[in-house]
Amino acid sequence: MLDYIIVGQGIAGTLVSHYLLKANKNIVVVDNNFHQSSSKLAAGLVNPITGRRFVKSWRIDQLIPFAQSAYQELEQELGIKIMLQKNVTWILSSPKMENDWMQRSSELELAPYIVLKEERLQNTEAFQNARSVIEFKQAGQVQLLGLMKAYRQKLQNQDAYLQENFDYSQLQIDQDGVKYKHLKAKRIIFCEGYQAMENPFFNYLPFWPAKGEVILVRIPNYPHQNKLIKHDVFIIHLYDDIYWVGSSYIRKYETTEPTDIEQQQLAKRLASGLNLPFEIVDHQAAVRPTVRDRRPFLGQHPIHQSMYIFNGLGAKGSYLAPFFANYFVNYLEQGQPLDKEVDIQRNLNFFNQNK
Ligand SMILES: Cc1cc2nc3c(=O)[nH]c(=O)nc-3n(C[C@H](O)[C@H](O)[C@H](O)COP(=O)(O)OP(=O)(O)OC[C@H]3O[C@@H](n4cnc5c(N)ncnc54)[C@H](O)[C@@H]3O)c2cc1C
Repeated sequence: MLDYIIVGQGIAGTLVSHYLLKANKNIVVVDNNFHQSSSKLAAGLVNPITGRRFVKSWRIDQLIPFAQSAYQELEQELGIKIMLQKNVTWILSSPKMENDWMQRSSELELAPYIVLKEERLQNTEAFQNARSVIEFKQAGQVQLLGLMKAYRQKLQNQDAYLQENFDYSQLQIDQDGVKYKHLKAKRIIFCEGYQAMENPFFNYLPFWPAKGEVILVRIPNYPHQNKLIKHDVFIIHLYDDIYWVGSSYIRKYETTEPTDIEQQQLAKRLASGLNLPFEIVDHQAAVRPTVRDRRPFLGQHPIHQSMYIFNGLGAKGSYLAPFFANYFVNYLEQGQPLDKEVDIQRNLNFFNQNK
Protein backbone atom coordinates (compact mmCIF):
# COMPACT_ATOMS: atom_id res chain seq x y z
CA MET A 1 0.00 0.00 0.00
CA LEU A 2 1.30 3.44 -0.99
CA ASP A 3 1.19 6.39 1.35
CA TYR A 4 0.19 8.83 -1.40
CA ILE A 5 -0.88 9.06 -5.03
CA ILE A 6 -0.11 12.51 -6.44
CA VAL A 7 -1.93 13.64 -9.57
CA GLY A 8 0.03 16.23 -11.58
CA GLN A 9 3.72 16.93 -11.76
CA GLY A 10 3.92 20.65 -12.45
CA ILE A 11 5.87 22.72 -9.93
CA ALA A 12 3.16 22.00 -7.32
CA GLY A 13 3.28 18.20 -7.66
CA THR A 14 7.07 18.23 -7.94
CA LEU A 15 7.60 20.11 -4.67
CA VAL A 16 4.93 18.14 -2.80
CA SER A 17 6.63 14.91 -3.99
CA HIS A 18 9.99 16.26 -2.86
CA TYR A 19 8.84 16.90 0.70
CA LEU A 20 6.91 13.63 0.92
CA LEU A 21 9.96 11.65 -0.21
CA LYS A 22 12.05 13.57 2.32
CA ALA A 23 9.58 12.39 4.96
CA ASN A 24 10.23 8.80 3.74
CA LYS A 25 6.76 8.39 2.28
CA ASN A 26 5.96 5.88 -0.40
CA ILE A 27 4.44 7.71 -3.40
CA VAL A 28 3.39 7.36 -7.04
CA VAL A 29 2.94 10.40 -9.27
CA VAL A 30 0.47 10.30 -12.18
CA ASP A 31 0.95 12.97 -14.83
CA ASN A 32 -0.40 13.32 -18.38
CA ASN A 33 2.59 15.42 -19.55
CA PHE A 34 0.23 18.08 -20.89
CA HIS A 35 2.19 20.22 -23.35
CA GLN A 36 0.45 23.42 -22.22
CA SER A 37 1.01 23.09 -18.49
CA SER A 38 1.59 26.42 -16.80
CA SER A 39 4.89 25.38 -15.23
CA LYS A 40 6.29 24.46 -18.65
CA LEU A 41 5.68 27.92 -20.06
CA ALA A 42 6.39 30.09 -17.00
CA ALA A 43 9.55 32.17 -16.98
CA GLY A 44 10.05 31.12 -13.36
CA LEU A 45 10.49 34.69 -12.22
CA VAL A 46 10.93 35.27 -8.53
CA ASN A 47 9.87 38.85 -8.25
CA PRO A 48 9.60 40.59 -4.87
CA ILE A 49 7.94 43.81 -6.12
CA THR A 50 5.14 43.59 -8.66
CA GLY A 51 2.58 45.63 -10.55
CA ARG A 52 2.33 49.25 -11.61
CA ARG A 53 2.05 50.33 -8.00
CA PHE A 54 5.22 48.53 -6.98
CA VAL A 55 3.57 46.34 -4.39
CA LYS A 56 5.54 43.95 -2.24
CA SER A 57 4.36 40.41 -2.98
CA TRP A 58 2.34 38.59 -0.31
CA ARG A 59 4.61 37.00 2.38
CA ILE A 60 7.63 37.58 0.17
CA ASP A 61 10.09 38.09 3.08
CA GLN A 62 9.40 34.51 4.09
CA LEU A 63 8.86 32.96 0.66
CA ILE A 64 12.06 34.02 -1.12
CA PRO A 65 14.61 32.78 1.44
CA PHE A 66 12.67 29.53 1.71
CA ALA A 67 12.59 29.10 -2.09
CA GLN A 68 16.32 29.83 -2.34
CA SER A 69 17.25 27.16 0.17
CA ALA A 70 14.73 24.63 -1.20
CA TYR A 71 16.08 25.02 -4.73
CA GLN A 72 19.67 24.78 -3.46
CA GLU A 73 18.78 21.52 -1.77
CA LEU A 74 17.23 20.23 -5.01
CA GLU A 75 20.26 21.41 -7.02
CA GLN A 76 22.48 19.25 -4.85
CA GLU A 77 20.14 16.30 -5.02
CA LEU A 78 19.56 16.40 -8.78
CA GLY A 79 22.94 17.77 -9.89
CA ILE A 80 21.47 20.61 -11.98
CA LYS A 81 21.30 24.39 -11.66
CA ILE A 82 17.74 25.45 -10.77
CA MET A 83 17.62 29.00 -9.45
CA LEU A 84 19.64 31.76 -11.09
CA GLN A 85 20.15 34.85 -8.96
CA LYS A 86 19.33 37.84 -11.18
CA ASN A 87 17.98 41.30 -10.43
CA VAL A 88 14.65 42.49 -11.83
CA THR A 89 15.33 45.71 -13.72
CA TRP A 90 12.47 48.03 -14.59
CA ILE A 91 12.91 50.50 -17.42
CA LEU A 92 10.69 53.45 -16.53
CA SER A 93 9.37 55.05 -19.68
CA SER A 94 6.96 57.78 -18.56
CA PRO A 95 6.74 60.58 -15.98
CA LYS A 96 3.75 58.77 -14.47
CA MET A 97 5.80 55.64 -13.82
CA GLU A 98 8.55 57.76 -12.30
CA ASN A 99 6.05 59.56 -10.07
CA ASP A 100 4.44 56.29 -8.98
CA TRP A 101 7.87 54.97 -8.10
CA MET A 102 8.83 58.17 -6.23
CA GLN A 103 5.77 57.73 -4.04
CA ARG A 104 6.74 54.17 -3.14
CA SER A 105 10.52 54.29 -3.14
CA SER A 106 10.92 55.52 0.42
CA GLU A 107 8.64 52.85 1.93
CA LEU A 108 10.66 50.99 4.54
CA GLU A 109 9.21 47.61 3.58
CA LEU A 110 10.73 47.89 0.08
CA ALA A 111 14.22 48.89 1.29
CA PRO A 112 15.74 45.38 1.50
CA TYR A 113 14.91 44.81 -2.17
CA ILE A 114 16.06 48.08 -3.77
CA VAL A 115 19.41 48.14 -5.56
CA LEU A 116 21.43 51.33 -5.05
CA LYS A 117 21.31 53.74 -7.98
CA GLU A 118 25.00 53.42 -8.82
CA GLU A 119 24.74 49.62 -8.90
CA ARG A 120 21.79 49.51 -11.29
CA LEU A 121 21.96 48.89 -15.03
CA GLN A 122 23.58 52.01 -16.46
CA ASN A 123 23.69 51.52 -20.21
CA THR A 124 20.18 51.67 -21.66
CA GLU A 125 21.16 51.95 -25.33
CA ALA A 126 19.37 48.69 -26.12
CA PHE A 127 16.04 50.26 -25.15
CA GLN A 128 13.76 52.99 -26.43
CA ASN A 129 12.02 55.46 -24.10
CA ALA A 130 14.27 54.66 -21.16
CA ARG A 131 13.82 57.66 -18.84
CA SER A 132 15.25 55.96 -15.76
CA VAL A 133 16.01 52.58 -14.28
CA ILE A 134 15.11 50.92 -11.00
CA GLU A 135 16.29 47.53 -9.89
CA PHE A 136 15.25 44.94 -7.30
CA LYS A 137 17.45 42.32 -5.70
CA GLN A 138 16.67 39.01 -3.95
CA ALA A 139 14.98 38.12 -7.23
CA GLY A 140 15.75 35.32 -9.66
CA GLN A 141 14.78 32.89 -12.35
CA VAL A 142 13.78 29.32 -11.55
CA GLN A 143 14.45 26.84 -14.35
CA LEU A 144 11.15 25.06 -13.88
CA LEU A 145 11.34 22.90 -16.98
CA GLY A 146 14.77 21.55 -16.09
CA LEU A 147 13.67 20.90 -12.52
CA MET A 148 10.51 19.05 -13.55
CA LYS A 149 12.36 16.92 -16.12
CA ALA A 150 15.08 15.94 -13.65
CA TYR A 151 12.52 15.22 -10.96
CA ARG A 152 10.44 13.08 -13.32
CA GLN A 153 13.58 11.07 -14.10
CA LYS A 154 14.19 10.59 -10.38
CA LEU A 155 10.61 9.35 -9.90
CA GLN A 156 10.91 7.04 -12.92
CA ASN A 157 14.14 5.59 -11.51
CA GLN A 158 12.20 4.73 -8.34
CA ASP A 159 9.26 3.28 -10.30
CA ALA A 160 7.15 6.06 -8.83
CA TYR A 161 5.89 7.75 -12.01
CA LEU A 162 2.97 6.89 -14.31
CA GLN A 163 2.49 8.88 -17.48
CA GLU A 164 -1.23 8.86 -18.17
CA ASN A 165 -4.32 10.97 -17.99
CA PHE A 166 -5.83 10.39 -14.55
CA ASP A 167 -9.28 8.89 -15.06
CA TYR A 168 -11.41 10.17 -12.17
CA SER A 169 -14.11 7.57 -12.85
CA GLN A 170 -11.64 4.82 -11.89
CA LEU A 171 -10.98 6.21 -8.43
CA GLN A 172 -12.55 4.21 -5.63
CA ILE A 173 -12.72 5.51 -2.09
CA ASP A 174 -12.99 3.18 0.89
CA GLN A 175 -12.22 3.20 4.61
CA ASP A 176 -8.53 2.34 4.11
CA GLY A 177 -7.94 5.04 1.55
CA VAL A 178 -8.20 5.04 -2.25
CA LYS A 179 -7.79 2.62 -5.14
CA TYR A 180 -6.87 3.73 -8.61
CA LYS A 181 -6.55 0.94 -11.15
CA HIS A 182 -3.74 -1.27 -9.74
CA LEU A 183 -2.66 1.35 -7.15
CA LYS A 184 -3.79 1.44 -3.52
CA ALA A 185 -2.91 4.38 -1.30
CA LYS A 186 -3.81 5.81 2.06
CA ARG A 187 -4.28 9.25 0.53
CA ILE A 188 -4.45 11.06 -2.80
CA ILE A 189 -3.32 14.63 -3.51
CA PHE A 190 -4.50 16.50 -6.59
CA CYS A 191 -2.07 19.02 -8.11
CA GLU A 192 -3.46 19.47 -11.64
CA GLY A 193 -3.10 23.23 -12.05
CA TYR A 194 -6.07 24.84 -13.81
CA GLN A 195 -7.16 21.42 -15.08
CA ALA A 196 -8.47 20.81 -11.55
CA MET A 197 -11.54 22.57 -12.90
CA GLU A 198 -12.28 19.21 -14.60
CA ASN A 199 -11.78 17.29 -11.35
CA PRO A 200 -15.26 16.19 -10.17
CA PHE A 201 -14.16 16.28 -6.50
CA PHE A 202 -12.70 19.79 -6.47
CA ASN A 203 -14.36 21.61 -9.35
CA TYR A 204 -16.54 23.44 -6.82
CA LEU A 205 -13.56 25.62 -5.86
CA PRO A 206 -13.70 29.16 -7.27
CA PHE A 207 -10.82 29.03 -9.71
CA TRP A 208 -10.52 32.15 -11.84
CA PRO A 209 -8.05 31.05 -14.52
CA ALA A 210 -5.93 33.50 -16.48
CA LYS A 211 -4.47 32.55 -19.83
CA GLY A 212 -1.00 33.80 -20.67
CA GLU A 213 0.71 33.96 -24.06
CA VAL A 214 4.43 34.26 -24.64
CA ILE A 215 6.69 34.72 -27.65
CA LEU A 216 10.17 33.28 -27.84
CA VAL A 217 12.44 35.57 -29.84
CA ARG A 218 15.99 35.58 -31.13
CA ILE A 219 17.79 38.84 -30.28
CA PRO A 220 21.37 38.72 -31.56
CA ASN A 221 23.86 40.68 -29.42
CA TYR A 222 21.38 41.59 -26.69
CA PRO A 223 23.60 42.81 -23.84
CA HIS A 224 21.52 42.10 -20.69
CA GLN A 225 21.30 38.33 -20.33
CA ASN A 226 22.03 38.53 -16.60
CA LYS A 227 19.07 40.82 -15.84
CA LEU A 228 15.33 40.18 -15.77
CA ILE A 229 14.28 43.24 -17.74
CA LYS A 230 10.78 44.67 -17.40
CA HIS A 231 10.05 47.22 -20.11
CA ASP A 232 6.29 46.86 -20.53
CA VAL A 233 6.95 43.16 -21.27
CA PHE A 234 9.52 41.00 -19.51
CA ILE A 235 12.60 40.05 -21.56
CA ILE A 236 14.24 36.98 -20.03
CA HIS A 237 17.19 35.02 -21.31
CA LEU A 238 16.53 31.32 -21.99
CA TYR A 239 19.54 29.94 -23.92
CA ASP A 240 21.98 31.09 -26.65
CA ASP A 241 20.37 34.21 -28.14
CA ILE A 242 16.79 33.11 -27.42
CA TYR A 243 14.60 35.16 -25.02
CA TRP A 244 11.22 34.67 -23.35
CA VAL A 245 9.01 37.71 -23.92
CA GLY A 246 5.70 38.07 -22.14
CA SER A 247 3.30 37.68 -20.97
CA SER A 248 -0.33 38.49 -21.55
CA TYR A 249 -2.93 38.05 -18.81
CA ILE A 250 -6.30 37.13 -20.26
CA ARG A 251 -9.40 36.35 -18.21
CA LYS A 252 -11.82 35.76 -21.08
CA TYR A 253 -10.57 33.40 -23.73
CA GLU A 254 -12.21 31.15 -26.26
CA THR A 255 -9.25 28.88 -26.82
CA THR A 256 -6.31 27.83 -24.67
CA GLU A 257 -4.17 27.73 -27.84
CA PRO A 258 -1.91 30.66 -28.85
CA THR A 259 -3.67 33.28 -30.99
CA ASP A 260 -2.38 35.50 -33.83
CA ILE A 261 -3.70 38.62 -32.18
CA GLU A 262 -1.74 38.05 -28.95
CA GLN A 263 1.42 37.26 -30.91
CA GLN A 264 1.05 40.56 -32.77
CA GLN A 265 0.40 42.44 -29.52
CA LEU A 266 3.44 40.99 -27.78
CA ALA A 267 5.67 41.68 -30.81
CA LYS A 268 4.37 45.25 -30.91
CA ARG A 269 5.03 45.78 -27.21
CA LEU A 270 8.55 44.42 -27.55
CA ALA A 271 9.28 46.47 -30.69
CA SER A 272 8.16 49.68 -28.99
CA GLY A 273 10.71 49.22 -26.19
CA LEU A 274 13.67 47.52 -27.82
CA ASN A 275 16.30 49.18 -30.01
CA LEU A 276 17.51 45.92 -31.49
CA PRO A 277 16.16 43.72 -34.29
CA PHE A 278 14.46 40.49 -33.21
CA GLU A 279 12.89 37.45 -34.83
CA ILE A 280 9.98 35.43 -33.39
CA VAL A 281 10.93 31.74 -33.22
CA ASP A 282 7.99 30.38 -31.22
CA HIS A 283 4.69 31.39 -29.66
CA GLN A 284 3.00 29.50 -26.81
CA ALA A 285 0.10 29.75 -24.38
CA ALA A 286 -0.86 28.24 -21.03
CA VAL A 287 -3.41 28.86 -18.29
CA ARG A 288 -2.47 30.02 -14.79
CA PRO A 289 -4.34 28.36 -11.89
CA THR A 290 -5.44 31.69 -10.43
CA VAL A 291 -7.99 32.03 -7.67
CA ARG A 292 -10.48 34.79 -6.84
CA ASP A 293 -8.93 35.69 -3.49
CA ARG A 294 -5.38 35.13 -4.85
CA ARG A 295 -4.46 32.62 -2.18
CA PRO A 296 -3.42 28.98 -2.65
CA PHE A 297 -5.92 26.14 -2.38
CA LEU A 298 -4.62 23.69 0.22
CA GLY A 299 -6.48 21.11 2.23
CA GLN A 300 -8.79 18.17 2.58
CA HIS A 301 -11.95 17.38 0.65
CA PRO A 302 -15.04 18.33 2.72
CA ILE A 303 -16.35 14.72 2.67
CA HIS A 304 -13.63 12.33 1.50
CA GLN A 305 -10.95 12.36 4.19
CA SER A 306 -8.30 10.59 2.12
CA MET A 307 -8.49 13.23 -0.62
CA TYR A 308 -6.48 16.47 -0.72
CA ILE A 309 -5.67 19.34 -3.02
CA PHE A 310 -2.54 21.49 -3.45
CA ASN A 311 -3.25 24.12 -6.08
CA GLY A 312 -4.10 27.77 -6.71
CA LEU A 313 -0.50 28.94 -7.09
CA GLY A 314 -1.73 31.55 -9.56
CA ALA A 315 0.98 33.63 -11.21
CA LYS A 316 3.61 32.89 -8.56
CA GLY A 317 4.18 29.15 -8.51
CA SER A 318 7.96 29.34 -8.58
CA TYR A 319 8.16 31.00 -5.17
CA LEU A 320 4.92 29.86 -3.54
CA ALA A 321 5.44 26.16 -4.24
CA PRO A 322 8.55 25.47 -2.10
CA PHE A 323 7.29 27.09 1.10
CA PHE A 324 3.72 25.86 0.83
CA ALA A 325 4.63 22.32 -0.26
CA ASN A 326 6.75 21.95 2.86
CA TYR A 327 3.99 23.55 4.95
CA PHE A 328 1.40 21.20 3.40
CA VAL A 329 3.49 18.09 4.11
CA ASN A 330 3.89 19.22 7.74
CA TYR A 331 0.11 19.52 7.89
CA LEU A 332 -0.37 16.04 6.39
CA GLU A 333 2.29 14.26 8.38
CA GLN A 334 2.52 16.16 11.63
CA GLY A 335 -1.00 17.47 11.96
CA GLN A 336 0.16 21.08 11.88
CA PRO A 337 -3.02 23.15 11.30
CA LEU A 338 -3.51 25.06 8.06
CA ASP A 339 -3.74 28.81 8.04
CA LYS A 340 -7.33 29.89 7.25
CA GLU A 341 -6.02 32.10 4.47
CA VAL A 342 -4.87 29.12 2.40
CA ASP A 343 -7.17 26.35 3.66
CA ILE A 344 -9.91 25.37 1.18
CA GLN A 345 -12.28 25.34 4.17
CA ARG A 346 -12.73 29.03 3.36
CA ASN A 347 -14.66 27.93 0.27
CA LEU A 348 -17.02 25.49 1.96
CA ASN A 349 -20.02 27.59 0.94
CA PHE A 350 -19.23 26.84 -2.74
CA PHE A 351 -19.22 23.11 -1.94
CA ASN A 352 -22.55 23.32 -0.14
CA GLN A 353 -24.11 25.29 -3.01
CA ASN A 354 -22.96 22.63 -5.50
CA LYS A 355 -24.27 19.63 -3.58
C1 LIG B 1 2.60 32.72 -19.43
C2 LIG B 1 2.86 32.41 -17.99
C3 LIG B 1 3.94 32.97 -17.34
C4 LIG B 1 4.18 32.69 -16.00
N1 LIG B 1 5.28 33.21 -15.41
C5 LIG B 1 5.54 32.92 -14.12
C6 LIG B 1 6.72 33.41 -13.51
O1 LIG B 1 7.54 34.06 -14.14
N2 LIG B 1 6.92 33.12 -12.18
C7 LIG B 1 6.05 32.36 -11.47
O2 LIG B 1 6.28 32.13 -10.28
N3 LIG B 1 4.92 31.87 -12.04
C8 LIG B 1 4.66 32.14 -13.33
N4 LIG B 1 3.53 31.65 -13.92
C9 LIG B 1 2.58 30.90 -13.08
C10 LIG B 1 3.06 29.47 -12.88
O3 LIG B 1 3.21 28.89 -14.14
C11 LIG B 1 2.06 28.71 -12.03
O4 LIG B 1 1.89 29.34 -10.78
C12 LIG B 1 2.52 27.27 -11.77
O5 LIG B 1 3.20 26.76 -12.87
C13 LIG B 1 1.36 26.37 -11.42
O6 LIG B 1 1.89 25.09 -11.22
P1 LIG B 1 0.97 23.81 -11.00
O7 LIG B 1 1.88 22.68 -10.78
O8 LIG B 1 -0.07 24.12 -9.98
O9 LIG B 1 0.16 23.63 -12.38
P2 LIG B 1 0.68 23.11 -13.80
O10 LIG B 1 1.99 23.66 -14.13
O11 LIG B 1 -0.43 23.39 -14.77
O12 LIG B 1 0.85 21.56 -13.61
C14 LIG B 1 -0.25 20.68 -13.54
C15 LIG B 1 0.23 19.30 -13.93
O13 LIG B 1 -0.85 18.39 -13.78
C16 LIG B 1 -0.96 17.57 -14.91
N5 LIG B 1 -2.37 17.17 -15.00
C17 LIG B 1 -3.47 17.95 -15.02
N6 LIG B 1 -4.59 17.21 -15.10
C18 LIG B 1 -4.19 15.91 -15.10
C19 LIG B 1 -4.88 14.67 -15.18
N7 LIG B 1 -6.22 14.58 -15.23
N8 LIG B 1 -4.13 13.53 -15.21
C20 LIG B 1 -2.79 13.56 -15.15
N9 LIG B 1 -2.09 14.74 -15.07
C21 LIG B 1 -2.77 15.89 -15.05
C22 LIG B 1 -0.47 18.44 -16.07
O14 LIG B 1 0.05 17.67 -17.12
C23 LIG B 1 0.66 19.23 -15.40
O15 LIG B 1 1.88 18.55 -15.50
C24 LIG B 1 3.28 31.87 -15.28
C25 LIG B 1 2.20 31.29 -15.93
C26 LIG B 1 1.99 31.55 -17.28
C27 LIG B 1 0.84 30.89 -17.97
